Amino acid sequence: METVTIKDKMFSLSIPAAEIQTAISKLAEKLNHELVGKDPLFLVILNGSFMFAADLFKMLTIPCEVSFVKLSSYRGTSSTEVVKTMIGLSDDIKGRTIVVIEDIVDTGHTLEHLMKMLDEQQPADIKICTLLFKPNAYLKCIRIDYVGIEIPNDFIVGYGLDYDGFGRNLADIYKIV
Ligand code: 5GP
Ligand code: MG
Repeated sequence: METVTIKDKMFSLSIPAAEIQTAISKLAEKLNHELVGKDPLFLVILNGSFMFAADLFKMLTIPCEVSFVKLSSYRGTSSTEVVKTMIGLSDDIKGRTIVVIEDIVDTGHTLEHLMKMLDEQQPADIKICTLLFKPNAYLKCIRIDYVGIEIPNDFIVGYGLDYDGFGRNLADIYKIV
């Protein structure tokens, strides 16, 4: 499909599924190589990251665990500075290597909120892994260790990302027209 309509907005194809999978394979290869012996805990940020996390996790060959937190900052098509914790951290992360799994890093507000929350629990190390990154929207200095694909400042949907709750089921990524 070249275009899709979700509610009142139209979107055009931006990143085809095959390109997404290639980017994920490269991320997995790096993680498998660089986190040997660390037995990391992958912390998936719901909701948007569920599809990325599932595909990435199948490509990991190192011993690792997965857990989930749910944060929310987006309203409609723009990011807000108010990040809410909808489901918090239930694991003991003290002394662990944590790999945060994000669908997309935009302004970085969500990431900052999360880092504060995690730092309090004294993990050994925190790595950030995001499928998508909008460098021109990023306002923070937190280092992002693993980036799948850099994208311009367009609002996108698909592959887990939503517009007002819809569009997460699309296998490709679409941008607003
Ligand atoms: P940030 O706090 O970095 O501004 O935004 C992070 C969160 O906002 C992401 O995890 C994602 O859930 C959501 N987000 C950021 N950019 C987009 C976008 O272009 N489309 C959608 N659907 N969500 C986005
Ligand atoms: Mg997210």
